[in-house]
Amino acid sequence: MFGSNLLPSVLTALALGGASAHAAAASPPPPPARAAPAACHKEACPAAMVRLLAKASGCEALNATIPEKTFFPGSAVYEFENQNFWSNTELKKPACVFRPINPTDVSCGVLAGQKTQSPFAVRGGGHMGIPGANNIDNGVLMVMSNLTTLELNADKSELSVGPAYRWGDVYSFLEPHSLAVAGGRLSPVGVPGLLLAGGVNFHGNQHGWAADNVLEYEVVLADGSVAKATATENPDLFWALKGGSSNFGIVTQFKLRTFASTKVWAGTYTVSGEHLDEFFEAIAHFAATNTDAKSHLVPMTVAASPNTTVASVILFYDSDTVSNPECFKKFLAIPSVSNTCDFKTLSAFAVENGGLVVDHINDLFIAGTTVGKDQASLLKGVQITNDVFFAALPELYAAVPPANLSLVSIDWQPITSLWTAGSAKSNPGGNALGVDTASKGAYLAWAEVVEWIGSEYDDAVFAWAEKTTDAINAATKAAGLYDAFNYMGDAAGFQEIYQGYGAANEARLREVSRKYDPERVFQKLLPGGFKIGN
Ligand SMILES: Cc1cc2nc3c(=O)[nH]c(=O)nc-3n(C[C@H](O)[C@H](O)[C@H](O)COP(=O)(O)OP(=O)(O)OC[C@H]3O[C@@H](n4cnc5c(N)ncnc54)[C@H](O)[C@@H]3O)c2cc1C
Repeated sequence: MFGSNLLPSVLTALALGGASAHAAAASPPPPPARAAPAACHKEACPAAMVRLLAKASGCEALNATIPEKTFFPGSAVYEFENQNFWSNTELKKPACVFRPINPTDVSCGVLAGQKTQSPFAVRGGGHMGIPGANNIDNGVLMVMSNLTTLELNADKSELSVGPAYRWGDVYSFLEPHSLAVAGGRLSPVGVPGLLLAGGVNFHGNQHGWAADNVLEYEVVLADGSVAKATATENPDLFWALKGGSSNFGIVTQFKLRTFASTKVWAGTYTVSGEHLDEFFEAIAHFAATNTDAKSHLVPMTVAASPNTTVASVILFYDSDTVSNPECFKKFLAIPSVSNTCDFKTLSAFAVENGGLVVDHINDLFIAGTTVGKDQASLLKGVQITNDVFFAALPELYAAVPPANLSLVSIDWQPITSLWTAGSAKSNPGGNALGVDTASKGAYLAWAEVVEWIGSEYDDAVFAWAEKTTDAINAATKAAGLYDAFNYMGDAAGFQEIYQGYGAANEARLREVSRKYDPERVFQKLLPGGFKIGN
């Protein structure tokens, strides 16, 4: 998941240049600003308005009832919002854009879809790079841009945040208070999609998934009502929203637990391809033995060109006094070709990572997992996934000119018993993701990343990725190291998510979905995202 931001620094380190110069699209004009009132309009769509919603299509219904928030092709807001996506693979042609300003509007938006039986899409930060996950042809595109609550409670222990925000906005808001929350590692990634997927974050070894640190959800349900989900109010919904995506409702506000944060020691450490063996040893050693919860890392290998491989690791240590901590010693013992590690704020680090992202090109992430109870098994898992991935690259280069491939990489996210202990502490009621380090050992949740220029190559890249992923999974199965867990945030549209949560969690998710949405509005009319099946 980090490849996109790493490649430019890797290329700079190797003085290769060039690939990151593939231009992003020109910035569209900013949307007209609309301030969202913080604490009103939290009730369901008014009955009088619901009667008016019975029109031929969702867009007609919304235009008849809330015209000032419904935008059609040619308007500045439509054109801005319809380009406001991370990857070109997400671009579509919605019939209209609906931009609610409060939960009541969102309620009307859901009921417009339901009453007219019209499909709709919901977009938060727009970073789920899967065609159809957050956008739609011909239907209503409901964007979260104007749900802009951002406030601390009186003792600053909780942050209320609307789904309009990116993580960079949240961290920079919290920085003057010397506070942070568990969230995305790149500033431009959206708040809602990440929290609904689970949320791999820098503080995971201390506090678990980002979703484990959501204390309250305000959510618009399929019948248009505005509900709360907490550990004690609708606790089944509270559990399901932690990893269950858009299957249960539209979240209009998250309440997040805050914690102290001044500076962290963090950066990107890059080594040349001749050190891959030591690099892989360092990954396995960290995953098998690390006991320091302040640490977090993301190691990856990058095919910088058909003949050049480099390895990079994002290092994060939650301390404003300790540099080069002992837990990273195996990585730091490898000579670097570039190293940005230093003391900085979380906000600055997220910007450092995010500032290097090339958006508005074409992107594909694919997820998988190997598990291991000892260092040798974890090392084997890294080697197998890396070797099968790199062995498949000649086929990719045959289908897409190397000059059009902006990034080709694979990374491994250690999720160990430290992480699950952090989850249990932050969120005793559990989450839907079903990570079971107690019986399976450490997880290395890997992600293949391919970024390219030119939509004419989309089909070739998708076909290559599916075949390569099958080959990786066949190889890790043969070695007894495979696990079905595919982290949603890194998954491709062709992948299964909920099977990897375990049969019991998958069944419970289905049960909760049927309880809160018996007509399956959020599966049938909101087709985007990963859906709970029959
Ligand atoms: C460059 C990059 C870096 C990333 N880094 C990380 C990382 O550090 N950690 C991590 O865990 N993941 C990471 N991801 C993955 C990321 O978490 C997902 O892409 C996530 O979906 C992004 O959230 P978003 O709001 O931008 O998504 P969107 O694409 O807007 O939405 C994702 C899904 O959620 C639905 N949705 C959006 N808002 C709502 C809402 N309010 N209520 C209900 N459903 C909603 C959408 O319909 C869609 O199906 C990264 C992705 C990219 C591209």
